[in-house]
Order: sequence, then structure tokens, then C-alpha cells
Amino acid sequence: MPRPEWEHSPSFLSSFFSSIIAVMKGDTAAQELARLIEELGLASPTAREKARARLKRLTGKDYGADPGPWREWWEKHARLRCNRCGKPLFDRKVYYRVKTRLTSEPTELHISEEEMSRDTAAEMEELFKRLEGKPVEELEDEVLVLLDYYLCLPCKRAHVAQVRKGPGR
Ligand SMILES: [Zn+2]
Repeated sequence: MPRPEWEHSPSFLSSFFSSIIAVMKGDTAAQELARLIEELGLASPTAREKARARLKRLTGKDYGADPGPWREWWEKHARLRCNRCGKPLFDRKVYYRVKTRLTSEPTELHISEEEMSRDTAAEMEELFKRLEGKPVEELEDEVLVLLDYYLCLPCKRAHVAQVRKGPGR
């Protein structure tokens, strides 16, 4: 089975490294961004130009001279919440995106000669009857589940520790 495309993608690596840099610098980039966006509405054209240049440098984006589109972009980020504790993530130095892929692992079937010779039509019919009423999503969930969500730093640590620890250790 091919690896999920996001596993080693450049965007994954670049966000990975910028997260590390953010942790090391201990910066509060989010707060600075929020302030700069508001400065785009200042009376002084020089101050506005300075704020925009700094925003462009910090974000690598340019949403223009008006604060409106920048605010819109900001709102999108501000809406992000930790999936575990529910706290907003926009003012965090760093937060994490979790992409989990759960696939069913079929056990190997050892079919005996007795089973081979048995008529399975009735069993198959029974199985289809059982599946018929189920919604498609439920059937898909039994084979493959893709989860994509965000965690704050403390929740990420707790989550990773829990998964690594395993049950009852
Ligand atoms: Zn959290």
C-alpha cells in the first residue's frame, strides 16, 4: 500500500520546522500579527505601509493594503480549536495538526476443506442482509478512517504519551 502523500511532503516538513523554530524562539507571532492587522487601519500611510511589509515578511502572504482581507484570514485561524480541550489555538506559539489513518488489518484466513466444501450462499445472504441497512459512512469506517484535527501543545504531549504508554502500563 502506498504511503499517505502528506507523510513527507515539503509543506509538512516546512510546517514541522517552523513549529520547532517557533518553540525555540518562544515568540508570540500571533499577537504581533493581530496588532499589525489593526495597524493597517491607521491614519498614517507610512505606518500602514510598514505594517503591511512586516505582515508580508512574517506570513509570506499578501492580502493587500486593507485590513479586511487580512482579518478574514485571521478569523479563519482564530476559529481553530484544540480537539481535546477545546481551547482556541490562534494565540498559541505552536499547535499541532494530527492526521491519523486507521485501516482494518484482516487476520489471515485459514479455510479448512470442510469449510471449502460447505455451501456459503446462505451465510453470504445473511451478511448482505446485515449490511443493507447500514449507512455508507459506517461501512467505510469499518475499513478506513481518516482523522484530521488540531491539538494544543499540552494536549499533544498527553496524547502522544498515552498512545506510547499503551494499556495498563
Ligand atoms: Zn488542548
